[in-house]
Amino acid sequence: RQPLYRTINPATGAHLASFEDADPAAVEAALSAGSRAFDAWRGTPIAARAQALERLADQLERHADDHARLITLEMGKPLAAARAEVLKCAANCRWYAAHGAAMLAPETVPHPAGHAEVRHEPIGIVFAVMPWNFPYWQVVRFLAPALMAGNVVLLKHASNTPQCAAALERAGIDAGLPQGVFQNLYLTRDQVARVIEDSRVAAVTLTGSEGAGISVGAASGRALKPCVLELGGSDPLIVMPSADLDRAVAAAVTGRFQNSGQSCVCAKRILVHRDIYPQFRAAFVTAVEALRVGDPTDSSTELGPLSSDAARDEIAGQVAQALAEGATLVTGGQALPGPGAFYAPTILEGLPEGAATRREELFGPVALVFEVANVDDAIRVANETPFGLGSSVWTQDAGERARFAADLACGMTFFNANTVSDPALPFGGTKRSGIGRELGRWGMMEFVNVRLVFTA
Ligand code: NDP
Repeated sequence: RQPLYRTINPATGAHLASFEDADPAAVEAALSAGSRAFDAWRGTPIAARAQALERLADQLERHADDHARLITLEMGKPLAAARAEVLKCAANCRWYAAHGAAMLAPETVPHPAGHAEVRHEPIGIVFAVMPWNFPYWQVVRFLAPALMAGNVVLLKHASNTPQCAAALERAGIDAGLPQGVFQNLYLTRDQVARVIEDSRVAAVTLTGSEGAGISVGAASGRALKPCVLELGGSDPLIVMPSADLDRAVAAAVTGRFQNSGQSCVCAKRILVHRDIYPQFRAAFVTAVEALRVGDPTDSSTELGPLSSDAARDEIAGQVAQALAEGATLVTGGQALPGPGAFYAPTILEGLPEGAATRREELFGPVALVFEVANVDDAIRVANETPFGLGSSVWTQDAGERARFAADLACGMTFFNANTVSDPALPFGGTKRSGIGRELGRWGMMEFVNVRLVFTA
């Protein structure tokens, strides 16, 4: 059969490299190296673990251009965005290096019967299954807190970003991480299930689709292991009459079309109050039609290709379905001619109530725009999908903000800003968007043993 792990440049379709799946002996060697590494790493002083993260940040910054080129080559995002992703990873390492010790410090719980100390202990090997859309950030987002807490990490990255995975592992080695503390393996799905079952693995984290989440979550459940799932979303961006319209339009364009629409927290549905709908629509269409699509290595490009031909075909199919269900095509709506997985920036409006596509995640450069009548209507439409990741609301009205903050069913609401991930802030969702949180203290606490030591 074809090798699973391949580099295919989505901007050209060129097949550039293949990588063999891990053989059983390599999997066993990695598990035993990880287990030995944990015995030493858990006892390494916190200050030394922080220094290791600082060195990893140094490595990422020093070689940011090389890493960025690999990201662009394997999944197609514009080079400047790829470089920004690498630098964000370095900043995340530095943030946990600076704040990790305080988060991990033991706490005393006042208790009448004795002295209660609560420690935050590492748990062992954290096994991570990660996606290609932010091939560095998705990994370093959980890696930095996991290593800081004293855990070690085994990575199974997406099959279309194998060189990013290898380069990240190499950055860890060059940063002086002890052998076995951070290892990458090119695993098949069967091997993923076996690694989850292995008694040396303590916990699992996955970022990806619902299907992957169900499969990895079920395997973790069978093995009785904690599991964090960061899955899909169909985030609303809501614009109310008091909004600064220029900023809201700019945010809707960035929020929907960044990374060619391939982000879990993209503003996939844009809900606009009917009083400002015509003005918003006109400005939004103009801005979207001005987006420059093309070669992701060209610095003037704003939108690269989708990550693969299959991803482009999937979004094309969803657009066809939405049109069949009664949506109106405002602009775009087709794959671009020539080689590469390019799809035109697209706007659809008027997708009727009850249409199946209203409940789906559109992982590509396609905005669904809806007119809403008032706050209640906006909240009703915002909450109608099975997802509940983020939301972005544009309003100057404090009363409206209170309503949205109370009633939007999701993990994150940003007012007058796009939904973003930030090292200091919790990131994650409700409903079918996942289980658990990443980043901040909350992300770190997912993979610690909250250990009580009670002395009477
Ligand atoms: P997947 O969820 O399939 O891939 C993410 C990771 O999970 C990859 O490492 C993949 O490995 C692995 N994986 C997938 N299925 C299984 C399984 N059954 N057992 C073990 N590992 C598995 O994402 P796709 O690339 O297929 O993207 C499809 C959809 O996923 C998108 O349209 C979007 O909805 C969602 N998605 C969401 C992301 C997010 O940020 N929340 C990120 C990426 C995708 P392999 O590559 O080897 O298949």
